[in-house]
Amino acid sequence: MKKSLKLEDYVDGIRQKDRTILARGITLVESSNSDHQRLAQELLKSLLPETGRSKRIGISGTPGVGKSTFIEAFGKLLTSQGKTVAVLAVDPTSQVSGGSILGDKTRMNELAIDDHAFIRPSPSGETLGGVARRTRESLYLCEAFGFDYVLVETVGVGQSETTVAQMVDLFVMLLQPGAGDDLQGIKRGILEVVDMVVVTKDDGDQKKIIEKAKHDYQQALHILRHDGWMPPVLSCSAFTKSGLPEIQHTIESYFNQQQLLINEKRERQGVDWMWQLIQDGLRDAFHRGVGEVSIRSCEEEIRHKKLTAPEAAERLLQNFLA
Ligand code: GDP
Repeated sequence: MKKSLKLEDYVDGIRQKDRTILARGITLVESSNSDHQRLAQELLKSLLPETGRSKRIGISGTPGVGKSTFIEAFGKLLTSQGKTVAVLAVDPTSQVSGGSILGDKTRMNELAIDDHAFIRPSPSGETLGGVARRTRESLYLCEAFGFDYVLVETVGVGQSETTVAQMVDLFVMLLQPGAGDDLQGIKRGILEVVDMVVVTKDDGDQKKIIEKAKHDYQQALHILRHDGWMPPVLSCSAFTKSGLPEIQHTIESYFNQQQLLINEKRERQGVDWMWQLIQDGLRDAFHRGVGEVSIRSCEEEIRHKKLTAPEAAERLLQNFLA
């Protein structure tokens, strides 16, 4: 059995860039044990002054678009320049199916053994809210450790993109036009939160399709986004590495020139996060206070038209507030 660590062991270990301790710190924040949770909160509080210095980048896209191959190639480009990179994953499928799209294959083999990189798969067995909370806390630990970049990867399904967009400075959407990612297939909400679009696999005989799609995406973004940062649309090949230096250059310019916007974004994200936690806390308290039996019976009565939704809501709320 591993020796259990005290708060100082975690804090010192992370400050001294001990990866084993970082990994154990992340396991601590992922634990649902209430003692672990308390220690995790103390750890986060102790490290808070050291957080905030990494470039936080979200990377999303449907399964097969090339996320892991891109992160490996882009990550290697960064580490070859002496930069350090942590990769965290948010995989909403892991709790639905038991398996997961992101976690179960051997991915990013080269980056996984790179001294300048750290890869952590998605925590499992949680709701998306739970996974997101733990990922956000893991992100803070990685920042305190001192990574130059923290990449948060997510599968483009359900709410996970918006969840990740709310914890990063730059949200990148990977798209593959030949494979269903034409303009009509993209969720409108995505274009509203995206900061950069990257068309993947720009190395085959689909040049024309790719150029047309890039043009279409850019047009759509011009219509939707009026002020602030206009998300650029770029393309690359993770195989030939073409386009990767331009992507890095664009990302660096964003971080150099948009500091004000990034600061505002982080402030807003902090406030939104507080409200998210309040909503989660209230919902939990509501369920505990009112009890599942009463909730289920009101749901049944609505289904059988014995009660209207407003009547049921009022009854349960009165019960809760009494
Ligand atoms: P993910 O599910 O989004 O993580 O996608 P993967 O990174 O696993 O890639 C899915 C498939 O696309 C794999 O077969 C990759 O080899 C292939 N692929 C990824 N990047 C490229 C690329 O730049 N060019 C080409 N031609 N294929 C790629």
